Amino acid sequence: MRKLAFFLALATAASMFAAVPRVVAHRGYHRAEGSAQNSIRALVKADSIGAYGSEFDVWLSADNKLYVNHNRDINGIVIETSTSEAIDTCRLSNGELIPTLDAYLDAGKNLRTMLVLELKPHADTAREDVAIPMILKAVADRGLEDRMIYITFSRNAFDKFAAATTRPVQFLTSIAPEEIAAAAAKAKAPLGADYNLSAFRKNPQWITDFQAAGRDVNVWTVDKPEDLQWCIEHGVDFITTNEPELTAKMISEHQK
Ligand code: MG
Repeated sequence: MRKLAFFLALATAASMFAAVPRVVAHRGYHRAEGSAQNSIRALVKADSIGAYGSEFDVWLSADNKLYVNHNRDINGIVIETSTSEAIDTCRLSNGELIPTLDAYLDAGKNLRTMLVLELKPHADTAREDVAIPMILKAVADRGLEDRMIYITFSRNAFDKFAAATTRPVQFLTSIAPEEIAAAAAKAKAPLGADYNLSAFRKNPQWITDFQAAGRDVNVWTVDKPEDLQWCIEHGVDFITTNEPELTAKMISEHQK
């Protein structure tokens, strides 16, 4: 009987924090027509289907210009070690020129979707230290602060964002909830977890642990229906997906 009461209490606690997940389009809605990963078109398409957020990746060039691109290189040109003269000629698969962060944020200004900015881990973490104030200034110059979420795999960038902004900062490298709590003690930003699905599959209690501590739980990159269903049933806060329309449909089905 006592055991039953314990499980009931646990279940109640879990349902208290369980969220209706919000959809984040991974690298924008890049599977939409005419789109490409991290293109401005992908951002616009994510917004057009009402995605809560649109994720994109940021690199700093050798001459201190911020670019939106997933890979370290574009057409063999390594962004970190190249100058804008070479990078600016590169095109995405949909024909767009590689977007600068300025151009991306300018496009975002006219939209409503949240901007989920991932700063990629740079070979020299000192470059991340240069990039972060530049990013925050580009955002502030456009009055976009309230639309931002920052994510990163870099522990250095995670701690630096955490100290420099009051916007949500989510760590992509899956560490235990206690470690995020320790980082939060020194942070200005509300910290959260944006972990690979496998980390939460292995440690499903982390979802409630984070949520009970008031931290957002984001999961990447969830595309398969059975995985989406698992995330929906576990009440995560955000699902980052290459299938934003399917995800939205499944969430709304679950609400019925
Ligand atoms: Mg990314």
